[in-house]
Order: sequence, then C-alpha cells, then structure tokens
Amino acid sequence: MTKDMKNTFDPAKIIQLQALCAEARTIAVLSHTNPDGDAIGSGLALSAFLKRLGYDVRFFVPNHFPKFLNFIPGSGSVEIYSEACESAKPYIADADLIICSDFNEIGRLEKMTAAVEANVIAPRVLIDHHMSPPEYELSFSDTGYSSTSHMVYDLICAWRGTEAITHEIAVALYVGIVTDTGNLSYGNVTPGLYRAVAELVEKGAQPVEISKAVFNTQSESRLRMVGYLLSEKMKVDCDIHTAYITLTRAEKTRFNHQIGDTEGIVNMPLSIECINFSAMFIETLDCIKISFRSQGDFDVNLFAREYFNGGGHKNAAGGRYYGPMSEAVARFEEIIKTVHPEY
Ligand code: 5GP
Ligand code: MN
Repeated sequence: MTKDMKNTFDPAKIIQLQALCAEARTIAVLSHTNPDGDAIGSGLALSAFLKRLGYDVRFFVPNHFPKFLNFIPGSGSVEIYSEACESAKPYIADADLIICSDFNEIGRLEKMTAAVEANVIAPRVLIDHHMSPPEYELSFSDTGYSSTSHMVYDLICAWRGTEAITHEIAVALYVGIVTDTGNLSYGNVTPGLYRAVAELVEKGAQPVEISKAVFNTQSESRLRMVGYLLSEKMKVDCDIHTAYITLTRAEKTRFNHQIGDTEGIVNMPLSIECINFSAMFIETLDCIKISFRSQGDFDVNLFAREYFNGGGHKNAAGGRYYGPMSEAVARFEEIIKTVHPEY
C-alpha cells in the first residue's frame, strides 16, 4: 500500500469489505454523472479486480463518458444507465452489495438514484476522495488522496498485494490518476502517489501512450472552441483574482461540441499570474452547469455549496444554476464582489 497515506485501508476494514463481498451474490459498482477519467478508471479497476476474484459484478454510470476513454481495456463493459436502464435498473435494485466510487452524494447518480434508493437491503460501500462523505455501512473516504483511482490502487494492494494489479487494472488506474491530477501536477501529489504510479508503469501502463490518448486526441473543432473562449469569452478581474468563461448552447453547436470537450478549460485561466479563482458556466438543456477551480486557500467546495447547489473539493468543485445564463453570471458577479480569493 502507498506508504505515506493515513490508515484508510486498515486490515479490519479490508476484512469487513471481504466479508460483505463474500456474502453478496451480485455486486453493483456505481460512479457519478458526466463520468470523468477517475470515475471510469476507478470503477473499471474495481470491477475488474472483483470479477477476477469470481464475483458477479457490473459497473454502471448514469450517462455517456468522453470518447477518449474508450482506449481503456474493458471500457466496453461500462454500462450507461441512460441507454440501458431496462437491464440496469433490476440489477441495481436487486444487487446484494452496492459500491459507490468517486462521489459523495447520491444525487450525483442523477436518474440512476431511484434504482439505488429502490434497493433498501444492500449494504453500501463508499470509496471516494471528496469532502463530506455520506454515512454508509463501510466507508473508505479520504480527502488526502488526489484521485479515487489511487485509493482503489491502495485498496487492491491491501486486499491482495500488488500481484493483483493486472495490465487492465494498471491502465484504468493510471488514467484515473493522471486525469484527476492534471498529469500529476495538482494538489495532493505525494511521494506515495509516484510510488503507486511507478508500480502501475511496471504492470504495463504506458505513460507516453496514455498521455497521447488522454491529452492529445482532441478534435480540431474543440481546439478552435478553446481558442474562441479564451480570446472572446474569458473575463479577467485581477483586482479580485478571478476569471470566468461562459459557453452557450449555440456556441456548443457552432463548435460541434462533443461530450468531454469542455474538460480542463476551466483550469486555463489559473495560468494567468493574478488569477486564483476560475469559473466556467456551461449552458445545458436544463440548467447552467458551473465548474469552479482555485489555487491556494480559496475553498471552492464551500463556495459551490453555499451559492450554487454544488460541492466537490477545496480546489475543484462544481454546481448548477437553474435559470438563464445572464442571471447565473449576474449572481456570480454580485457574490464575488464580497467573497473573493485573497493572495
Ligand atoms: P467538474 O467541474 O469537473 O464538473 O467537477 C469538479 C469536482 O466537483 C469533481 O470532483 C466533482 O465530483 C465535483 N462536483 C461537480 N459538480 C458537483 C455537484 O453538483 N455536486 C457536488 N457535490 N460535487 C460536484
Ligand atoms: Mn475523482
């Protein structure tokens, strides 16, 4: 197990998890809406590991994940609830064990929530690195981890040792780690994480190949959209160390927007010297989805919770606004006049 993490995966809890799995005929592994690399990587690795131990496991996410994740071995086995709820619903509702990976609020399962809530019998296990974990039968919750995939690495090692990390698991976990840490550059990048990554590389995860697949397979129209947003749509206010970008549905259409195309754009304004707080407002069919990022002490989890029905981590969070874009932005501008990150 990663040496410098606290005892999140102590032997007693691993034994408890083993007992829960041993008693389960069927296991549903679930991850959050708009699945990112960590959601898919952690869920795939966990389900591949449990399958190899002989369990009947299926892995579900509420909606589609970005195409660039298709190269992960086994990605074809991820079940998309919005596409196949007929088959997913009864499995989740009747599962003997539910494992929630990479999210801290049941609402992040969106339409899949009802299927989980219909299952009043199955114990729930949490494995997640967000703040404010729910009270489940068994929780592996630790905000000290920069990704849930790193947690799954430690969980598998605590359960079965590094021998249990197959090539398929190594690739899935490596993808989850690099996507949640901005290729090992954001917070909580510990020596232990590098040791875990070294082991994953030893097990066959190819850093150059994976970086290419994850970071350098964008479409031309996505790159042009980024150029347009930075040039025409980014508002910067150095006095309050804040920048934000808006993206409307019409602009998405103009740039042939595909799932995942907005990933990472919200981080870009943070590369401006005076900016410590960045927001991106994305118009969807039913709401304005907002991403928040910060560097340093400004807590965007608290900000998202307090003002925009959301949450997340201290330096990366999301929320939503139900109303037109203009109102969402006006509200944001009003709030940041008083609440803004100091140097
Ligand atoms: P993103 O901006 O990439 O959608 O999300 C950033 C982080 O905030 C992720 O860790 C995600 O799990 C979390 N997050 C995003 N939206 C929400 C939300 O509506 N509620 C909560 N609790 N967390 C969110
Ligand atoms: Mn994550």
